[in-house]
Amino acid sequence: MRYPLGFMNAQMKHRTKMQKLGQKRYPTVLMLEPLYTCNLACIGCSVERHTGKLADRMSVETCFKAVDDCGAPIINLCGGEPTLYPELPQLIQGLIDRGKYVLCCTNALKLDTKVFDVIPPSPQLFLMIHLDGMKQTHDFVCNRQGVFEKAVEGIREAKKRGYVVMINTTVYKETKVEEVEALCKLGMELKTDGVLISPGYEYESVEKNVFLTRDQIHEKFKAIREFAPKYKINATPTFLQFAAGMLDLPCAPWSTVNYTPHGWKSPCYLIDGVFYDTWEEFWNNTNWEYWESRLDSKCRNCKMHSGFEHSAVEKAMQSLKGKLELAAWSISK
Ligand code: SF4
Repeated sequence: MRYPLGFMNAQMKHRTKMQKLGQKRYPTVLMLEPLYTCNLACIGCSVERHTGKLADRMSVETCFKAVDDCGAPIINLCGGEPTLYPELPQLIQGLIDRGKYVLCCTNALKLDTKVFDVIPPSPQLFLMIHLDGMKQTHDFVCNRQGVFEKAVEGIREAKKRGYVVMINTTVYKETKVEEVEALCKLGMELKTDGVLISPGYEYESVEKNVFLTRDQIHEKFKAIREFAPKYKINATPTFLQFAAGMLDLPCAPWSTVNYTPHGWKSPCYLIDGVFYDTWEEFWNNTNWEYWESRLDSKCRNCKMHSGFEHSAVEKAMQSLKGKLELAAWSISK
């Protein structure tokens, strides 16, 4: 199976429930950032994220309120570095008790002290290990030597201990496709439960370089589509077609909402827009129709998984061919 059965069921149940309620827009994933503190200062990361003070983190109760308010079945813990969140064991247990699937996005540097022997493996907990390339590239991006090896060691140990583990990688215009395939091979050797590949958000090049950048992303994803059937890549076939420029999709920014120490971020995880204190203000005041249209200059160059995977699934479900392709993809690997 591409994803564990329970995970796929939870998504399907949520989708059916929302459709029965007549909801056209609804969140499936909450990107929850309990803190901005990080133990790395990666190239391209904002200063706020890697220097955020631990004292400014959200309380567990505040996190649970955001989770309950938005109702998404999948909680993507990010930040900052979630393993630095002192209340991580309580947070994860509370989410599991609520029936949520927890994707803990981590650089893996603290797995040995903050996760192993502290947070037990669960079919509802996925460790999403960030690797933006093989050793040389990843250590360069992370601005520190040894990060890649430590992450690989963490993946090996996590698998031995029975955790669900995936590799999470971003493809930028500078990324070599051969390196993406090398990562997929490594994922197989380490017996990970999948590799999530997404095009990076190249916001800085929107004004001058948008088409060139977009073409470069398309080219890379065309090559990735060719080797994708050999590996357990956790992006749907329709999403990979979209990333390769073979079809177009509207954005669904409401499908992956973002709650941070500053509040609900509107319109999406990627744009530094407006923060709202309450779920109601965020949901009712964001002009979803506008952001779906991708007319904004900040959106022109965006092909992010968080904005478009929901639309890719919806698109697949519109035709018998698409449904069959999605079903075959889901049960393969
Ligand atoms: S296209 Fe990208 S940047 Fe624009 S709203 Fe969607 S996810 Fe955000």
